[in-house]
Parts: sequence; structure tokens; C-alpha cells
Amino acid sequence: MSECVDPIVGKILAGWRYDISGLAPEMREDYEDHFDGCAHCRYRQRLHRNIDLALIALASLSAAVFLLAFGVILHLNPRHAFWLELAALVGFALSALIWLGVAVATPAPMAVVDAAKLGARRVHDRLPAEIRDRLPEELRLKITGS
Ligand SMILES: [Zn+2]
Repeated sequence: MSECVDPIVGKILAGWRYDISGLAPEMREDYEDHFDGCAHCRYRQRLHRNIDLALIALASLSAAVFLLAFGVILHLNPRHAFWLELAALVGFALSALIWLGVAVATPAPMAVVDAAKLGARRVHDRLPAEIRDRLPEELRLKITGS
């Protein structure tokens, strides 16, 4: 794999897990330029965002499984049902907490919003002109950004 073109900037970016979404726009510019010119950091950034999304997906899946387990215990009503239900609920609460932690600490929600915006723009561009013109100006601005 290629090396970082500017190890000092690369190290700073690595410390932030290649997330510059929280920076002020004028500060972000230099780092965006670095991403443009550095395949190494670009690759790393994509990798870290994929890890964030995988964590969110895993926490969601885990929460769903615990909820399912709770439902099954409730339905079958085995011996010691209370403790099993309690364990399932605690598992669900922990998964929800992890989900929240990942959503707050990483830019994963922004990545999802960006992907949704991109999808919306694609749909918008394919709409016939007469329908596109009927969209409220505010909505069009949000979708196209111009
Ligand atoms: Zn770099």
C-alpha cells in the first residue's frame, strides 16, 4: 500500500480517526486538500467510516436479537422466566447504549445522511422537469445544495 505523502498531517488525521466533519470549514480545507492528494489517508478514512457503520449495524442487530429473545421468553414462559427476561432486557439496554455511543462519538450518522442525500439527488435528477419544478424551493435546495 502507498505511504502517506505528509506523515505529520497523516498522524494528526489518524488521531482523529480521519474524521474532519467536526472542524470549522476554514480549518477543514487543508485536511481536505491532504485527502485529495493522499491515497493512503483516503483509504484509511473510508476504512474507519466502514468500521463505524459496521459497529452501528452490529449494535442494531444485537439489540434486535435481545428483543427477540425477550419476546420468545415471554411467549414460552419457561421456568425462571423472570431472570431470563431481565437478562434479555439488560442485553437490549446495553446494545442500545453501545448504538448511541457509536452514533454520538463517530461521524457514522453523517455518513448515512450523506448517502441518503446522494440517493435523493439521484432520484431528483431523474424526475421529469415538470414534476421537478413543482417541488418546493426549500426542498430542492436541500437535495441539490444549489
Ligand atoms: Zn496522508
